[in-house]
Amino acid sequence: QAKVAGKNCYRFYSRAMDQAVERRVHLEHELRGAWDRGELSLVYQPVYRLADGAMVGAEALLRWKHPEQGLIAPSVFIDVAEQSGLIETLGPQVLRAACEDAMAWQKARPDAEPLFVSVNVSPRQLRSGDLPKTVADCLHDTGLAPHYLHLELTETAVIGDEIHASNLLARLRASGVKVWLDDFGTGFSGLSHLRRVPVDGVKIDRSFIADVLRDPDDLALTTAIIAMAHSLGITVVAEGVEKEGQYAVLRERGCDLAQGYWLGHPVNAQEFRALLIS
Ligand code: C2E
Ligand code: MG
Ligand code: MG
Ligand code: MG
Repeated sequence: QAKVAGKNCYRFYSRAMDQAVERRVHLEHELRGAWDRGELSLVYQPVYRLADGAMVGAEALLRWKHPEQGLIAPSVFIDVAEQSGLIETLGPQVLRAACEDAMAWQKARPDAEPLFVSVNVSPRQLRSGDLPKTVADCLHDTGLAPHYLHLELTETAVIGDEIHASNLLARLRASGVKVWLDDFGTGFSGLSHLRRVPVDGVKIDRSFIADVLRDPDDLALTTAIIAMAHSLGITVVAEGVEKEGQYAVLRERGCDLAQGYWLGHPVNAQEFRALLIS
């Protein structure tokens, strides 16, 4: 009896796996032409300075509106793009669109301090080595000044080949572009990375912020990250601020910048521009 169940079980899992693989291959195929068909677009989530509450920039987040399946989460399709190598064409397209939009914001508010745009860069884009040239081309063609472009890398992007990564990041930073470490605190070796990999800032992962009001450990860790970053002279951003209380405590602890649903949801480029001139 157990044997039969085991067999069925095996069959069930293998069929589920086949379906997952099939779905992936299918997604990959559809993702290939999605940008040109206009199914992919960027939304922008505002980033605020805690000291005075001013909006200082925005993070660009990619959205895929699939004609049949509707919105597909970046956590699904970015992974497909990364594994298949599609990210190597998609990444530069995202970067260019974000720089163009950031320039449009400047034109919409010529007298205001320009906003930065923050773009997520995947491990494969960093590994390919083309990034400094891609970035330089985008800045040159759009006219955006380098310090208004921020690149967000995750710790996994720098793990393994830290010498290559730190050389690349040093070149980017020398050109004036700012580099942030995203989802900071989730990897075990976050601290040691900061010794070897030069960055301008860290984004505290939203899992810390989620419990900062209830869990004394999360508050202690968040406070420690802020103190440590400041002693290294780097900026701290909190992500996933969903409540006024979280905002207040982060501000009190000296966190520099914050973003989250309580401050503003990601909105499309048109809505973001309306936000700017309102
Ligand atoms: P991330 O860079 O850490 O982006 C933050 C994510 O948190 C976004 O999810 C954002 O919509 C969400 N978020 C913002 N505020 C809150 C909040 O208050 N509460 C909660 N629960 N979530 C909040 P999203 O847009 O689904 O993106 C997921 C991840 O996909 C991003 O994480 C990033 O790693 C990746 N991603 C998105 N766009 C791109 C892209 O253009 N290129 C690359 N390489 N990765 C991207
Ligand atoms: Mg990010
Ligand atoms: Mg993050
Ligand atoms: Mg906790």
